[in-house]
Amino acid sequence: MNDSSNQLDLAIIGAGAAGLAAAIFAAEEKPGLRIALLDGASRIGAKILVSGGGRCNVTHDVVQPDDFNAPHHWVKHVLAAFDERRAIKWFASLGVELKREATGKLFPVTDCARTVLEALLNRCEQLGVDMRCGHRVKAIHCIDDGGGSAVSADNRRDACPTGFDITFGHGRCTAKQLIMATGGRSLPKTGSDGSGWRLVETLGHTVTPTHAALAPLVLESSFMHASLSGVSQDVTLSTFVEGKRVDQRTGSLLWTHFGVSGPVVMDASRHWVMAKDTGRRAAIQCSLLPGKDFGAAEAMLLEQANRQPKQPIGKVLSVALPQRVIEGLFKHGEVNATTPMSQLSRETRRRVAHLLTELELPIVKHRGWNYAEVTAGGVPLKEVRFQDMQSKKTPGLYLIGEMLDCDGRIGGFNFQWAWSTGYLAGRGAALSFGGRSQIAGHGAAHETTETTESGDLRSPTKWGA
Ligand SMILES: Cc1cc2nc3c(=O)[nH]c(=O)nc-3n(C[C@H](O)[C@H](O)[C@H](O)COP(=O)(O)OP(=O)(O)OC[C@H]3O[C@@H](n4cnc5c(N)ncnc54)[C@H](O)[C@@H]3O)c2cc1C
Repeated sequence: MNDSSNQLDLAIIGAGAAGLAAAIFAAEEKPGLRIALLDGASRIGAKILVSGGGRCNVTHDVVQPDDFNAPHHWVKHVLAAFDERRAIKWFASLGVELKREATGKLFPVTDCARTVLEALLNRCEQLGVDMRCGHRVKAIHCIDDGGGSAVSADNRRDACPTGFDITFGHGRCTAKQLIMATGGRSLPKTGSDGSGWRLVETLGHTVTPTHAALAPLVLESSFMHASLSGVSQDVTLSTFVEGKRVDQRTGSLLWTHFGVSGPVVMDASRHWVMAKDTGRRAAIQCSLLPGKDFGAAEAMLLEQANRQPKQPIGKVLSVALPQRVIEGLFKHGEVNATTPMSQLSRETRRRVAHLLTELELPIVKHRGWNYAEVTAGGVPLKEVRFQDMQSKKTPGLYLIGEMLDCDGRIGGFNFQWAWSTGYLAGRGAALSFGGRSQIAGHGAAHETTETTESGDLRSPTKWGA
């Protein structure tokens, strides 16, 4: 412990997207600070490398609070400080040019996630950030200004600890300020196994139940999905919990050997998973005719029966659906695809309309944490100040990224959350050492918003919240 390299100004635990961003912004704000990134993994950035199918979907063309599952006004403040435009400029300054795809997703022009990781690591190195992998943090204690004695949980706020004592596998270090960026539970082999939540609980925080989100869904093996494996199509998915519709969205679904995947499934999954995890009845209904309900489908079938009475139903539907889907669906629903439209009985017509627009997916489970891209749940946002991500429980502690109870939809939003919160905390922690600018000066949004002593928002009407 006498080793000065273990007496840090700022320790950042977790060197994922959020931790790397925080380190860069802190070091840029206050050159000369002794900053170390501690990560339990043997290699830094494994999750960035596999993200976006190995291409890293860095952010989205338009990022709005509605893209996140979290209080709207809170996310709005975070994005106001560092939005997608700033992220694009920031990456350009790091030498990473981004391109926009038709979906609005932004990727590096190299189509290679390594470009993003290397740019972040190079910048950390240039700025003198001490990168320590193989440093799995096991315990954190607050220390007071009397020289190292622990501050009790109850007195933590009043006592205002002057630092943190951090124990990792093979040693200890101290830090005056501490940023926690330990992520969630998705893809645990990258090092993100949820252990960071146990650490912040010892520092006074709560953690809401955590659930897999952006996860593929496994269907009953007797369903038709295996025969459609590889087919992708646009659908509308409606999620019902205890019979009430809680979510509806349209997008691309991919049939796979195990069930369903693709953006629309991944986005819908959190609602189904959360309901199931909490013992509630949940179901997802699929309309294979995006945006059309039962009534619209039946009307369409009647109209086609008048227009082309001799055409077989399978042929008529091939204008709207892939052939393999028609075959699988009719086999599943026991409908003869060769029946001419004029000979469809009312009952069969209604059965087809039901199959086309109210197809219930027989979901068994989500595909597991190795396939879920993010975590729903975590440390409630209300326990953190939106101005700088500082803990309201333990001064000098900052929480960022996926460990917070905020998950974005698919499309680059989760990385944007990591960059934005990393920016706020990195800058905030650096400025606590005395700096050139005020935290409240990020822009009009921050200047015009009053906060209570505890940091809660006071001007919800301004944001329409
Ligand atoms: C397969 C996959 C693809 C994805 N693709 C995209 C995409 O293209 N676009 C997008 O926006 N989002 C994507 N995401 C989501 C995105 O990767 C995450 O939301 C984001 O990486 C979270 O960043 P983070 O820094 O908060 O946490 P993480 O990236 O999870 O980093 C946490 C770090 O903390 C370390 N750590 C944890 N506990 C400890 C401890 N006790 N001691 C020391 N270190 C510890 C871990 O080793 C890890 O390095 C994807 C996720 C997955 C799994």
